[in-house]
Amino acid sequence: MTVSLLLIVAAGLLGLVMGSFSGAQVWRLRARQLVQDKKDGEEYDKAEYKRLVTLTKSKMNEDRSRCLSCHHTLAWYDLIPLFSWLSTRGKCRYCAKPIGFFEPVIELGTAVLFVLFTTVWVGMFGVEAASLLVLGLWLAALTMFVILFVYDMKWFLLPNEVMFPLIGLSVVITSLTAIVLQDLAIVPTLLSIAASVTILSGLYFALWLVSRGKWVGFGDVKLGIALGVLLIDWKLSLLALFLANLIGTLVVLPGLISGRLSRKAQVPFGPLLIIGFFIALLAGNSIIDGYEAFSVWLSTTMLML
Ligand SMILES: [Zn+2]
Repeated sequence: MTVSLLLIVAAGLLGLVMGSFSGAQVWRLRARQLVQDKKDGEEYDKAEYKRLVTLTKSKMNEDRSRCLSCHHTLAWYDLIPLFSWLSTRGKCRYCAKPIGFFEPVIELGTAVLFVLFTTVWVGMFGVEAASLLVLGLWLAALTMFVILFVYDMKWFLLPNEVMFPLIGLSVVITSLTAIVLQDLAIVPTLLSIAASVTILSGLYFALWLVSRGKWVGFGDVKLGIALGVLLIDWKLSLLALFLANLIGTLVVLPGLISGRLSRKAQVPFGPLLIIGFFIALLAGNSIIDGYEAFSVWLSTTMLML
């Protein structure tokens, strides 16, 4: 009990640190993307290029973090997750420009995610070495999800630099979970994973094919592979896909009705899929059980009437 509690507190602190790392990584990836776009002769945001690349020159590529307004190198006490932001009330210590809520939100969000995940994980698999090893891999995967989520929200793109390692990591995590932690039968599990990937990746692949990449990006197809592999159970994948579309509709519909959004407005599917995935992962079995209990109740009530 106390071990679990300690572990959950540690996960929260680690989440703050990894959230801070993710925030910095998002800007580095973006700077690299802009340099690449310019080199390839593609359209790119010139003002953003100036802010992220020219003014910082190659500095964004080094490991020191800088203020995005005055480009002052940040000291260690500027980089303490959450506390640095709170201590200056969200302003840069050097130029006093507001930093915005990007950093604290991403740090808190990651911490909450780490705590929730660790709580559920320890409840399922305990605190033995094998369980903690896979948990550690999962926390690395969660960090990648945070980067992808934020990047896709901001720029409608899921960078390959994160996507490919995540797919590799998901294969390792699922192999260890299925073989070491759950001792699942190999053939049915492989079939379920195949179905799972087809559900989460196949629909987006079909949409990508039909629209020639206009409706959805190929990034969503690749994301579907990682999510399908990690969920293992095809029923959970179906639920994740359903939830992603449901949430997407709920978010987009008010904008469409009020006319604030045009029909052509871009919707980032990545974040929706990731949200659907986490709900399915952490609460999916309860949701499916609840749904089954509900339909049994409904059919018996209907029979009685
Ligand atoms: Zn500054």
